[in-house]
Amino acid sequence: MPLPAPHIPGLSDLLLDGSLSEDKVLHATDDTPDYAIMPWVNVVKIGGQSIMDRGRSAVYPLVEEIAANLPKHKMILGTGAGTRARHIYGLAIELGLPTGVLTVLGTAVAWQNAQMLHYLLARYGIPFVEPEGFPILPNYLMERGAVVVQGMPPYKLWEQNAIVGRIPPQRTDTGCFLTAEVFGARKMIFVKDENGLYDSDPKKNPNAKFIPRIGLGELIARDLDDLIVERAVLELMVNTRHIHEIQFINGLVPGQLTAALNGEPVGTIIYRDELAKGGPKS
Ligand code: ADP
Ligand code: MG
Repeated sequence: MPLPAPHIPGLSDLLLDGSLSEDKVLHATDDTPDYAIMPWVNVVKIGGQSIMDRGRSAVYPLVEEIAANLPKHKMILGTGAGTRARHIYGLAIELGLPTGVLTVLGTAVAWQNAQMLHYLLARYGIPFVEPEGFPILPNYLMERGAVVVQGMPPYKLWEQNAIVGRIPPQRTDTGCFLTAEVFGARKMIFVKDENGLYDSDPKKNPNAKFIPRIGLGELIARDLDDLIVERAVLELMVNTRHIHEIQFINGLVPGQLTAALNGEPVGTIIYRDELAKGGPKS
C-alpha cells in the first residue's frame, strides 16, 4: 500500500514560525489523512471486577474463546483492575495520598490481572507486554495473533485530578480505548458482565432498560447516573480520529466475544453521532 504523501504548502514554515497554540497553525496540521498503524488489530478489554475477579468460572471459558479466535482475529487483550484496586484506593485515600499515587497503585493491580491472563494464555505463545515494549507489538501480533497488556494508561504519578474526588479518572477502560485509537485499531470491544449499556445499572435496578445502540452525543446529553464505561472514554471519544464506535459485550455469555470479533452487533454499540462535538470526522 503506498504511503499517503499529500503536499501541504507552507506547513513546515507555519510550524517553524507560528505558535503551536495558534488556530491557523492547528488547522493546517489537520490536512493529512490519518494513517492507521495496525488497522487489523482488535483491542479487547477484559474487565477487572466484572470478569477477572470472578475467577475460574468466568476466566477459563473466555481464555478458551480467545484461543479459538487466534487463527482469525488479532487481539490486544488489556486487563482491568477491579476489586483489589478499590480496596487499595480506599486505603490510600484515607492516608491522604494524591491521585497520581492512586494511579500507580491501580496500575499495579491491573498488572497483576494481566500477569494471570498472560500465564493462562502462555501455552498459545501469547506474551505479556508492558508499554515500554510496545514497539514489538506488531511482530508478536503477526506471529502469535494476540498480546496481553495491562489496561491502565501509563500516566502513573502524572495522572490528572478528577473534577470531584481523588479516584483516577482515566483508568483501564480509558487506557485500552486510547491504545485502540493510537494504533487505528479495527475494533474496541469491552468485555464485562452485563449484556451492554442500560439506562441505569442493571445490578441495582431490575427494570433497567437495555440500550443496544446509541450515539455518543445523545448518551452524553442523557447524562445517566451510572455507566458501564468510564466517563473519560466518552469525553475522549468526542475527538477520536480512528475509533468511531465502541462495543460492550457480556463475557459471561459464551460466543459473544466471537460474535463481536466477527463484526456482529451483539451487546451495545456506542457510535460517534452528529451530536458529538465536531461530528464524525469521516
Ligand atoms: P470493569 O470490570 O471493566 O472494571 P466495571 O465493573 O467498572 O467494569 O463496570 C461494569 C459494571 O458497570 C457492570 O457490572 C454494571 O453493574 C455497572 N453499570 C453501571 N451503570 C451501568 C449501566 N448504565 N449499564 C450497564 N452497566 C452498568
Ligand atoms: Mg471499572
